[in-house]
Amino acid sequence: MNVAVLLAGGSGRRMGGPEPKQFIEVAGRTLLEHSIRAFDRNADIDEIVIVCHPDYLSRVSDIVAPYPKVRHVVRGGRERYDSTLAALNVYEGNDADVPNVPLDRINVLIHDCVRCLVSDRIISDCVRALHEYRAVDVAIPCTDTIIEVDDQEHIVRMPQRSHLRNVQTPQAFRLDVLVDAYRRGLADPNFVTTDDCSVVHKYLPDVPICVVPGESTNIKITYPEDLILAEKLLKC
Ligand code: C5P
Repeated sequence: MNVAVLLAGGSGRRMGGPEPKQFIEVAGRTLLEHSIRAFDRNADIDEIVIVCHPDYLSRVSDIVAPYPKVRHVVRGGRERYDSTLAALNVYEGNDADVPNVPLDRINVLIHDCVRCLVSDRIISDCVRALHEYRAVDVAIPCTDTIIEVDDQEHIVRMPQRSHLRNVQTPQAFRLDVLVDAYRRGLADPNFVTTDDCSVVHKYLPDVPICVVPGESTNIKITYPEDLILAEKLLKC
């Protein structure tokens, strides 16, 4: 069973608008709905879970109504990883609504819903990679040289660019692996993360993580100017 988890639990208003960016409309639909459509149309995806901010539950219920693959809308948490955990919780037997499927038979693809241009090819490549691997990331080569700085803004490291990648989503896992990684992570008093692959990488270092090629168009809508590009690409 392949489950897409769409993270829409952020309340970020960095865009400057009155609502979180997942509810901004581009090319006639909200960013969230564009992401739902991408996973709903993909033949490999069996069901979709939406994690949303508690203040927007009814708004999201209206948006998902036409999409039969959306089986659960759950409340997100304070940090992104709290929202991932809310989705994992659905499949750990804590939700009476879910059939009793063993965790190692469930694949989860965790996606930032504000990457509304994710392609069918990326989604299917993630599912295919999970036949062989238990954790999968999506990334593209870095086009900028990356520097690491210290607190004084002095360069401490300049990694070789040919080995660097910009990470995108979805990130895909066998559910039992991700649950195990988070269980270990949450036991660490210094736990902090901004994505899900880094939790597997840090707390289950023996699990190899396969990298599927991303796409330069799989952008994370962050700044107002990203909307101009997204509008053009979605109309193509
Ligand atoms: O804030 P950022 O752009 O990193 O958010 C990435 C994605 O994670 C967004 O789709 C956002 O809605 C989601 N998120 C979430 N729960 C949070 C924070 C972010 O689902 N607490």
